[in-house]
Amino acid sequence: MTATPRSMPRPYEAFLPTLLNEASEQARRAEAVVSPHPGAPQDLTDRIERYVGDLGADIVGLSHQVFDHPELCFEEHEAAAAVARLVRSHGLAIEVGSFGLPTSFRARVGNGRPAVAILAEYDALPDIGHGCGHNVICASAVGAFLALARVASELPGSVELIGTPAEEGGSGKVLIARAGGFDGIDAAMMIHPGVYDVGTYPPQGMRTVNVVYQGLEAHAAAMPFMGRNALDAVVAAYSGISQLRQHMLPSDRIHGVILEGGRRPNIVPGRTAASFYVRSRRTETMRELSSRVQQIFEAAAHMTGTSVDVEWDPYPEEQPVRTNRVLMERYAVNMARRGRAVLGQQALEVPLNGSTDFGNVSHLVPGIHPVVAMATPGVACHSREFAAEARGPRGDRAALDGAFALASTAADFLHDAAMRAAAMAEFTAAGECVPVQTSEGKE
Ligand SMILES: [Zn+2]
Ligand SMILES: [Zn+2]
Repeated sequence: MTATPRSMPRPYEAFLPTLLNEASEQARRAEAVVSPHPGAPQDLTDRIERYVGDLGADIVGLSHQVFDHPELCFEEHEAAAAVARLVRSHGLAIEVGSFGLPTSFRARVGNGRPAVAILAEYDALPDIGHGCGHNVICASAVGAFLALARVASELPGSVELIGTPAEEGGSGKVLIARAGGFDGIDAAMMIHPGVYDVGTYPPQGMRTVNVVYQGLEAHAAAMPFMGRNALDAVVAAYSGISQLRQHMLPSDRIHGVILEGGRRPNIVPGRTAASFYVRSRRTETMRELSSRVQQIFEAAAHMTGTSVDVEWDPYPEEQPVRTNRVLMERYAVNMARRGRAVLGQQALEVPLNGSTDFGNVSHLVPGIHPVVAMATPGVACHSREFAAEARGPRGDRAALDGAFALASTAADFLHDAAMRAAAMAEFTAAGECVPVQTSEGKE
């Protein structure tokens, strides 16, 4: 018997265009972000822009090199080596293998405090390579650092380039924080490519939870009454999560997969496993949502007479990004020089969701993680289309504009004492420093 051919499933067709129209309308109406702080002297910013131009071939070359050798989390050896070669070719020192992580790196120019950290990501995704555009992130961060190195003697403070491996699973920045990587740092910044120029990042935190149900195997026909069905348990848990969705906050997300579901129909499954990501926009709501999820896992075990092991955060959880408005406004002013109108915090209320380990950094020091437009609205991050842009002219431009905006915003922060005080006051008002070591909130 042959299977009836079926047409491919299709997503809703009306929703996305509506959303994109709304977003472009919001973008059109959004007021330009301005800053009350003057930042660095104008002639310094002018020279930084010129140096980024001089470094153009190096910046774009690095972006392409990293793109052409995609490496998964914690395996980014070639990317780290490419950065080290480039930095050394400009006569600067760089350490590879910092913070106990073989593929991390750090380099510093200038002297003492205040100190700004510019963060580079360079890990790729399975199968689709740089479908998140981390090659652009890496090139912009290194480019910013090299441009600032040329004006190091004029910087009242220092700039540190930190290579942060394993953003796509692994939370490298949290491991760096735990190793003291952000001690003595006063602000942290990086850019991420996307489809709009936005000063903020979707601020969802994320936890991973793995669940294993243990039942009792038995012959499913002869003696089913001797079994306890671990598949029933994991299905009940999955259904329970599905029912929870109606009552979650609209901005929350839970998504999961069943990893083990039994082996043969004639054996009552004795062991099943699933994995879920739990996302929410605030640490407090994340805790509440996590506890609902925990209750569902336990209830499914009670229903089916099985036992359950729930493992939260096999690697560190990601906290929501806390954008520092003072820094973000200077960034937007600097990006305006590159012809980019950066939208502010509330400008785009389209559901751009996602999480990053930069969230944890933004709870340690004032930080920004703005998005630089690189792809057409409608192109999704983590897709082949997005990867193509990351290796194309728009990715190159994003890397160059990002390098300039990061370098000039870092120079602003170091030069403008009132801006620094305002950034710190905002950070303090938002809840001050949350030490990553004690922020796990395990249930
Ligand atoms: Zn990603
Ligand atoms: Zn990413």
